[in-house]
Parts: sequence; structure tokens; C-alpha cells
Amino acid sequence: MYDVSTVQLEMRPTKLTRRGFVGGIGLLAGTAATGTAVARRRRKGQSGGSSGSLESLSDAERAGIRYMREEEKLARDVYLTFYEEWGLTIFDRIANSEQRHTDVIKNLIDKYGLDDPYRDAIGSFTNDELQSLYDSLVARGRESPTEALIVGGLIEETDIVDIQDFIDQTDNDDIITVYSNLIESSENHLSAFVDVLAKRDIDYEPQVLSQETYDRIVA
Ligand code: MN
Ligand code: MN
Repeated sequence: MYDVSTVQLEMRPTKLTRRGFVGGIGLLAGTAATGTAVARRRRKGQSGGSSGSLESLSDAERAGIRYMREEEKLARDVYLTFYEEWGLTIFDRIANSEQRHTDVIKNLIDKYGLDDPYRDAIGSFTNDELQSLYDSLVARGRESPTEALIVGGLIEETDIVDIQDFIDQTDNDDIITVYSNLIESSENHLSAFVDVLAKRDIDYEPQVLSQETYDRIVA
């Protein structure tokens, strides 16, 4: 499909830079490191494209995939728990979507032969940070249905920010495609929570996103 030797040569500077190398090559690739994901994709397209190819991953890419595998599970587990607690159908509906998201990340884990951090039990996580996040979010959402809906908004906002960070740390088109779809879903979920809150006369305010980004999403 493309000339492997050319692609490897072209890609080396980017990979080096992300591991923190400096010097002449770093200067060139420094541009790539600070550029947008879209810009990097374009550059990569010029070097032959990589859609469907199996490149080696950087440590950051590996960590990002493993983190997102559990972050999507966290969303699912929190919503399942809130559905059980409050019976609001929005939680059931969005939990199903989060199940699909964590499954899609599992595909990347399998594709790249990574260790899967996933634990079957609801509310159980390998990543300590996500474990304590889950615990505090569930405690908060158990206060009232309204608080649970606001926690839903917080989860979606956090998702959007985290996934964008991980997009900025990868140049693999397959990973960028998966992440971009997840962001789009998170934006829809955020809007859904905001709508349900509005019906309860609660005016949701962004907790993580800038007002500008939030307005663009919810408008
Ligand atoms: Mn999701
Ligand atoms: Mn979501």
C-alpha cells in the first residue's frame, strides 16, 4: 500500500521528539509536537499515509489507550450506578454508549497487544486515580438526582479534555479516529445532561471546559 522504508524514515523525527530528544532534529519535530492533531495528520499523509498500518506506539500512546479504556468504563459504571439509584433513563441510555466506547478502546488494546487494565466488577479500576475519581463521583451523585446529572456533565467535560490531550499526543490515524468519535459522543452526552437539567430548571455551568468551548458544544 505504501513504501514502508520511506514511511519509517519520515516518521523517526516525530517519535524521537516525543521522547524528549533535543538538538537539530528536535527543532524540526518540535513543530510537530506543538502542532494540532490535524496538522500532524496532514504531514503524515504527505509521507505516505498510515491508515490501517500497525506502527509501534510511544509510551504516551500506550498509556493513553490504557487510560481511556478505564475512563470509558468509569463513565459506564457511574451511569449504571446512578440509574440503579435514581431510575433516570438518561443514565441507562448513556451507559450503553459508554459500554461501546470501552469496547472500541479494547479493539485498540488487542490490535497493539497492550495489557488490558479492565476489571469486570462495576466500580473497580486498575488505575488508582480513576478509582478515587469513581468513588468521589458516585458519592456526590448519590446526594440527589440533580447532583447525579451534574456529575454526568462533569464526566463528559473531563472526557472531552482528556481525549483531546491524548489526540495531541498521538500521530496514529486509527487512534485519532477512535478518539475523535469518542469526543463527538461526549459532546452529545454533555448536551443531553444539560437538556435534562434544563427541564428541572437547573442552568448547567461548565465545570472543566472554557465557557467558549462549552458554548460551542451546547449551542
Ligand atoms: Mn464515552
Ligand atoms: Mn459519555
